[in-house]
Amino acid sequence: MMNLALNTATTRHQWDLRAAVEGCKRHGLSAIVPWRDQVLEIGLEKSSKLLRDSGLAVTGYCRGGMFPANSEAGRRLAIEENRRIIDEAFAIGSPLVVLVCGGLAEDSNDLSGARKMVLDGIHSIINYARSANIKLAIEPLHPMQAAERSCINTLAQANDICDALEPSGSSTLGIAVDVYHVWWDPELKKQIDRAGASRLIGFHLCDWLVPTHHLVTDRGMMGDGVINLESIAISMFNAGYKGTPEVEIFSDYWWSQPADEVINIARKRAQRVLERLF
Ligand code: ZN
Repeated sequence: MMNLALNTATTRHQWDLRAAVEGCKRHGLSAIVPWRDQVLEIGLEKSSKLLRDSGLAVTGYCRGGMFPANSEAGRRLAIEENRRIIDEAFAIGSPLVVLVCGGLAEDSNDLSGARKMVLDGIHSIINYARSANIKLAIEPLHPMQAAERSCINTLAQANDICDALEPSGSSTLGIAVDVYHVWWDPELKKQIDRAGASRLIGFHLCDWLVPTHHLVTDRGMMGDGVINLESIAISMFNAGYKGTPEVEIFSDYWWSQPADEVINIARKRAQRVLERLF
């Protein structure tokens, strides 16, 4: 059994949640990170039972966030939605919810305003998450996605949010380090060290292809691109990260391949990066 999770987005066009669970078991992966739509597709209760009976660890739930909105009502709706997502994470036995924080509010170019809405949004759900014993993993997204998906784009911003909302250092808040989004950051190692063991609660693996044809659906398989995965893995290890790294590849190409082959390759490639560390 390998300490590796499948993020179910990787095989979302080939496998539903049931098939993904079976696939993880067949390929000796220890964990799974389901997406909400796939959970709700077969129902929360059935998904919870399926996951709990599977013997796999559920190491995350995708995703919450999307806080900015151009009205008070819209922002309130987002907070209610995030509370439901926390409940669902609890039901399926996930220790955390991944937060894709949201980009600009509709018809707005107020980036600093959007960032404030993200801070306020996380602030509004943190106690709810804490009482459910669910962590919130802030995932910075590549700056080219600042408008549409997340205005939190660097590990420094994510660390700043943690500092602002949990000054005592308690750790309901944490950070998901997705190599695709942060590999280019000159402060990468420094900010991984700053986050430290208690905040590093997600480590997502894929690769950056050259050229990249689509910002969301053209991720590479580990080893096919230009990210120095080994060096990032070493930084994570040295900073005290002790979780289950996760394969997360959104890719039209890999979605067109047989899922068993995708997992087989991903497992081998991940092993090269992670062996001796995790
Ligand atoms: Zn990710």
